[in-house]
Amino acid sequence: MQSIQNYINGELVSPVNQNYLDNFEPATGKIYSKIPESDSDDLELAVIAAESAKSEWANMPAEQRSNLLMKLADAIETASEELARAEAIDNGKPIAFARAVDSYRSAANIRFFANAATQFSSECHDMGSVGVNFTLRQPIGVVACISPWNLPLYLFTWKIAPALACGNVVIAKPSEVTPMTAYIFSRLCIEAGIPKGVINILHGSGPAIGSPLVNHPKIKAVSFTGGSATGRAIASQIAPMLKKFSLELGGKNPTLVFADSCKDQASFDNTVSEVARAAFSNQGQICLCGSRIYVERSVYERFKTALVKKVRALRIGDPLVEETQHGALVSKAHYEKVYSYIELAKEEGGTVLTGGNKRTPEGRCSGGYFIEPTVIEGLSSECRVNQEEIFGPVCTIQPFDSEEEAVTKANGTEYGLATSVWSSNVSRCHRLSSQLDFGIVWINCWLLRDLRTPFGGMKSSGMGREGGLEAMRFFTEPKNVCIKY
Ligand code: NAD
Repeated sequence: MQSIQNYINGELVSPVNQNYLDNFEPATGKIYSKIPESDSDDLELAVIAAESAKSEWANMPAEQRSNLLMKLADAIETASEELARAEAIDNGKPIAFARAVDSYRSAANIRFFANAATQFSSECHDMGSVGVNFTLRQPIGVVACISPWNLPLYLFTWKIAPALACGNVVIAKPSEVTPMTAYIFSRLCIEAGIPKGVINILHGSGPAIGSPLVNHPKIKAVSFTGGSATGRAIASQIAPMLKKFSLELGGKNPTLVFADSCKDQASFDNTVSEVARAAFSNQGQICLCGSRIYVERSVYERFKTALVKKVRALRIGDPLVEETQHGALVSKAHYEKVYSYIELAKEEGGTVLTGGNKRTPEGRCSGGYFIEPTVIEGLSSECRVNQEEIFGPVCTIQPFDSEEEAVTKANGTEYGLATSVWSSNVSRCHRLSSQLDFGIVWINCWLLRDLRTPFGGMKSSGMGREGGLEAMRFFTEPKNVCIKY
């Protein structure tokens, strides 16, 4: 059975303690590889490697750093099919999705920040005849990048790329639930000629290696994506150490459908398709998925019927089959958690319109963690199912009567990551953009990404932003230089 290895000082190595965790294939429920359960001993080796690589990487001309990152992006593109297949096996997502989203965007992340390395600039504040201030933006040093399991390599590279582009060295920890593409990525770093120690990848669980990593005194900044509870725990540990940190956390994202978005059949069909895509892409396991659907009452019944029809038509099955649109949930624990929310929805008075069941495909996937895409109606906005993040293929649908009611319902959870609004009324769209308390407001679209934009959430959905200049600013220390004439 394959054993994943850590990547330290440019080499693939076994964990010092020789402890390994089991890695499951979610579509079959079977163990298919071993993953290092790294600890502080491995961390010390990674810190030594990063410290010794720090100065040369920080002082390398930006163009040279950029060229190395471009080679890494090329290597990801060359390995894109291998990566897509590995992601589908490790995570349970359909291979077509892994190809179009995960491997494609991982290369795009690296390429985008490779360009940013040579385009980034800082401010100058002219004081006229008195003098001038300028801002030096210098790398922070050794930084930690910690990522979750839902878009494994995509979110891993979304952090590592800007950190490296700014001249930092990285110790990264992928999710222990989906380690395989980070392992392949280690090999690609070697192939691309990334200097030793510039990036180090440690595998293992949060308690064994995540917590020691963020707490290590040599780690100067932490970029974290994961659940809100984990984010809070990390913040409470490292805020007193005065480390810089950025937290991208959970969501409970609303989708608002106004009747004027359904004026003709083509726009109605498009809205239904996109709302279904927003709810169920990646089995609903995207932090940005729209899991609370609010529809203006005058089109509610028609919209609901069309949505249910659309969702029922999704092809569920083996993630490695090209035609599959809905794969397995990532782990047994997550599968049981998601299913428990379907049972809770029934207790809370909800009616399952479609789905609601565990599914056992025949053959190879009979032991897999499949749940049908599920739409539930009849729940109040205040119930737990509409307040807590489920992070699976479960959405609720409710009617609303006025714009004010829609905004109140949309804003009525502790989360504030993303929302999408479907309307042809331009004034309304502008009004709602300012009234909705979310880091990302999509108007007549969902998950339309431009890597230059600030990415992240408000309220319990996070602190700080990633993307474009926000990421470049996070991963640099601004130093004001004041010169008196
Ligand atoms: P998680 O919080 O359980 O784990 C995330 C990562 O943190 C993993 O690598 C884990 O090993 C590590 N970790 C756990 N405890 C740690 C600790 N004490 N110290 C350091 N690291 C620790 O989250 P998950 O279940 O992997 O991911 C799902 C969550 O991520 C959902 O809530 C989802 O909304 C969120 N998410 C947010 C975004 C975003 O951009 N806002 C994107 C994707 C996922």
